[in-house]
Amino acid sequence: MITRDFWNPKNETLPRDELRRLQHLKLKRLCEWAHARSVFHRRRWDAAGFHPDQLKTVDDIRRIPFMTREDWMDAQMEDPPFGTLPAAHRDLAIRYHLTSGTTGRTPLRVLDSTKDWEWIAEMWAYGLWGFGLRPNDVVLFAFSYGTFIGFWGAHYACEKIGCLVLPSGGATSEARVKTIVEMGVTTVCSTPTYALRMWQAASEMGIDLARDSTVDKVIVSGEPAGSIPAVKRQLEAAWGAKVGDTAGMTEIGTIMIFECARQPGGTHVIEDNFIEETIAHDGDRPVPYGERAERVVTSFGRGFIPLIRYRTKDLVVKLPHSECGCGRTGDLYQGGIQGRWDDMKLIRGTNVYPRAVESIVRECTSVDEFQILLTRDGMQDEITILIELKPGREEHWSVLHGRLCKDLPDAHEGLRFNIELAQPNSLPRFELKAKRLVDKRPVAEFS
Ligand SMILES: [Zn+2]
Repeated sequence: MITRDFWNPKNETLPRDELRRLQHLKLKRLCEWAHARSVFHRRRWDAAGFHPDQLKTVDDIRRIPFMTREDWMDAQMEDPPFGTLPAAHRDLAIRYHLTSGTTGRTPLRVLDSTKDWEWIAEMWAYGLWGFGLRPNDVVLFAFSYGTFIGFWGAHYACEKIGCLVLPSGGATSEARVKTIVEMGVTTVCSTPTYALRMWQAASEMGIDLARDSTVDKVIVSGEPAGSIPAVKRQLEAAWGAKVGDTAGMTEIGTIMIFECARQPGGTHVIEDNFIEETIAHDGDRPVPYGERAERVVTSFGRGFIPLIRYRTKDLVVKLPHSECGCGRTGDLYQGGIQGRWDDMKLIRGTNVYPRAVESIVRECTSVDEFQILLTRDGMQDEITILIELKPGREEHWSVLHGRLCKDLPDAHEGLRFNIELAQPNSLPRFELKAKRLVDKRPVAEFS
């Protein structure tokens, strides 16, 4: 039997020099399109002295000014509701979505055409097929199908592959678990947090998903946790399935990275459709392989929203494609998206990344839910980890307490952590975009 590992065998294995040539061609075409049709881009580029004719090689991308979320928001406010960024008239759009706006910010509004949606599904198809989805798979989406774009594209990609798709927007966790078992579901798509929640709901119903379901793949997205080894191991044990990480953003409408079936500890960049630059977070210096950087994305597929050199604030470490033996020539992000630069907290002079804390806390399998609480006692910042144990694991507390009191400081230059036990079900539960860090320190006031 011939197996086909790639959704797009030609582009996914293009030699690097040919890939760079393809990126150059697409970049030039994208910039010409944006210059002719997007008031936002033309104005900014004119002011910066940039013109698409200057793109002689793909490296000339550095001549283009960066754009930020704030720039986009300003453009949206200037000409509501959609702003000056869209490169086509709204009559051509078929769908409207919003960013999830988890941080209380005004959401960004996006429009897409039929062609844009074909591309959005195509990108998900690269990832889903690459992780092993095939036409005989039965896929349940544990997703709300709301204005947040989330798994919409993955749904269409599964239809494109030929899977049987089971939408479950609005269903309870219990109803979803029941469907998974009764319908012979093989693949579940959800956030990592919600995949754990469904497993818990199943346990309460007396169902062991690893034993009683036919799920062999869980596709996660929406949170950095999908690539944290301890979270992945727990999910894999809970579901008796392989867990594949993907990451996308509303600003793109789809995913730009995915884990292939080989699971090399990182996610491949879909480089024939995106240019992913790694840039120093505090400036414009390109950062080499193996170092922490901010990812800056240029997306080729969306006609309505030409996203060019967009600063994402995502923290990544890029590795060469050769670190994976699958044959793809797209480079890798080690451990996927490792967090956000603005998630980093400074506690008594030490940098703390929520994801790093999570990766240590989740090593303890007795932990059900947790929260990172930042407070200020007089002049001193305090960091407290509140832990809820799984039912029946109460006797593990003293061992767990001792372990966290050692492992967390060891990973943070000796910083002291307070470790406290929380009452069962006292911490918030999340379905989408878990927010486990609560910063209660007073904001400095300046007069
Ligand atoms: Zn690979």
